[in-house]
Amino acid sequence: MIFATPKKKQQKKNRSLSINSFGIMEKSFEKVWQNCLDIIKDIVEWQHFKTWFEPIKPVGIKEKILTIQVPSQFFYEYLEEHYVALLAKTLKRELGKEARLEYRIMVDSGNSKNKPLTMDVPGNGYKLYSNNEMDFPLVINNPVKNPFVIPGLKKMQIDPQLNSSYTFDSFIEGDCNRVARRAGKTVAEKPGTTSFNPLVIYGGVGLGKTHLAQAIGNEVKRLYNNKVVLYVSSEKFINQFIDHSKNNAINDFIHFYQMIDVLIIDDIQFFIRAEKSQDAFFSIFNHLHQSGKQLILTSDKSPKDLEGVQERLLSRFRWGLSSDLQLPDYETKIEILEYKMKQDGLEMPREVVKYIAYNINSNVRELEGALISLLAQSSLNKREIDLELAKKVLRNFIKTSSKEITIDTIQKMVCDYFDVPYDKLLQKTRKREIVQARQITMFLSKSFTKNSLKTIGEHFGGRDHTTVIHSCQTVKDLMDTDNLFKESVLELQHKVQLASM
Ligand code: ADP
Ligand code: MG
Repeated sequence: MIFATPKKKQQKKNRSLSINSFGIMEKSFEKVWQNCLDIIKDIVEWQHFKTWFEPIKPVGIKEKILTIQVPSQFFYEYLEEHYVALLAKTLKRELGKEARLEYRIMVDSGNSKNKPLTMDVPGNGYKLYSNNEMDFPLVINNPVKNPFVIPGLKKMQIDPQLNSSYTFDSFIEGDCNRVARRAGKTVAEKPGTTSFNPLVIYGGVGLGKTHLAQAIGNEVKRLYNNKVVLYVSSEKFINQFIDHSKNNAINDFIHFYQMIDVLIIDDIQFFIRAEKSQDAFFSIFNHLHQSGKQLILTSDKSPKDLEGVQERLLSRFRWGLSSDLQLPDYETKIEILEYKMKQDGLEMPREVVKYIAYNINSNVRELEGALISLLAQSSLNKREIDLELAKKVLRNFIKTSSKEITIDTIQKMVCDYFDVPYDKLLQKTRKREIVQARQITMFLSKSFTKNSLKTIGEHFGGRDHTTVIHSCQTVKDLMDTDNLFKESVLELQHKVQLASM
């Protein structure tokens, strides 16, 4: 369990004898530990004793389980590997056959804002301790329980929880994602050994964070089959943590995560307000980072804007690389669409692909959504995909994403086209070319904007709606009779259409 070390309580218990629940006098943990040390001191070399035993603090005893506090995870591992037999023997002398040892590992020594953070782990050393004379296990070995509920878990059996279609090949590179994609590739090739640790990928919704993070996982698996990779959303992580804290199994939870070689946590912005989960994550992060394991995190905000995430975590995120994903530009959008079509064996006119790429300006997920809707509509109505169908289908998407064309924009475009001064267009000039330019502008405003005839009239020096009706009719009539005029109108129509994409 992770908790702040209760210093005061330790001091209170500073007696050499205490009475247990059966009314029997028992030795205090300090006395027990001191007696162990007295023996150990005579056995191990002085320098080793100073290094590995002096820093240990006894912190409690409960039913023959002595808890000692050690300064780090590494320290604990070293003791377990090198001194477990000695510890077992001496402890047995003091406490009898049922003696057990538990470690309290200092995860973080704390500061003025954060209390020290420790983690209790039962020793694991009895596996290494092969002295048959010892008929008791020195430690309680809790088998690690897998939060993903795979019975009889072994390290290699951890399912990475990856979607195999999220690969680097299917993640199109563009200016919008080049740095993040390349950093991801580097990390996948050399997990845990580059300075990109952790790798934090951030950006808005639907821009490819999950895809890229999973691509790293898939690539690691492809290159190093025996590395243990795990993808987990932060929500799932938090829920698992809560389940494990209910069942008093937080150590299992933490141990499980400490077995991972490449840990991917998606959407860490959800850690905000989940204080206890952040503590657990902090401890896991430290362990993995210290042991050269790779961490990949995604977030919808840059780490510096992640308010509500503990500063000590944020400062660790800065150890690595943070890289953002942006909205793809037009060319990249086309490439993404073409890739997706090729994957599904689909074809559609180039102008339709362009139309979609021009009009979807929100994110890649919407780009895909538009494509899928279009395909669905085409097969439902047994109709070829053409620009007309695309416009119809994309209307819903475009409403929120395309540029709204305004009367002002059309006015400026027409003025440019005919080289007519803008103020003349609004005045009551009767010059033929100005009158025609004005009429065409009204006509285009009627067809390309949702403005009423009245509003359009108001934009032309306060003319009324009948003038607008008359103008529209005149343009239509002239188009039927005057080819040169018709050509100009068609060309302008095209320009306005492009501008509205
Ligand atoms: P996020 O996690 O940022 O919300 P996702 O990773 O879920 O976004 O991406 C949304 C969709 O867009 C996914 O289907 C993903 O495959 C696709 N996508 C995003 N970026 C790219 C890209 N560069 N190339 C190809 N597909 C992409
Ligand atoms: Mg995502």
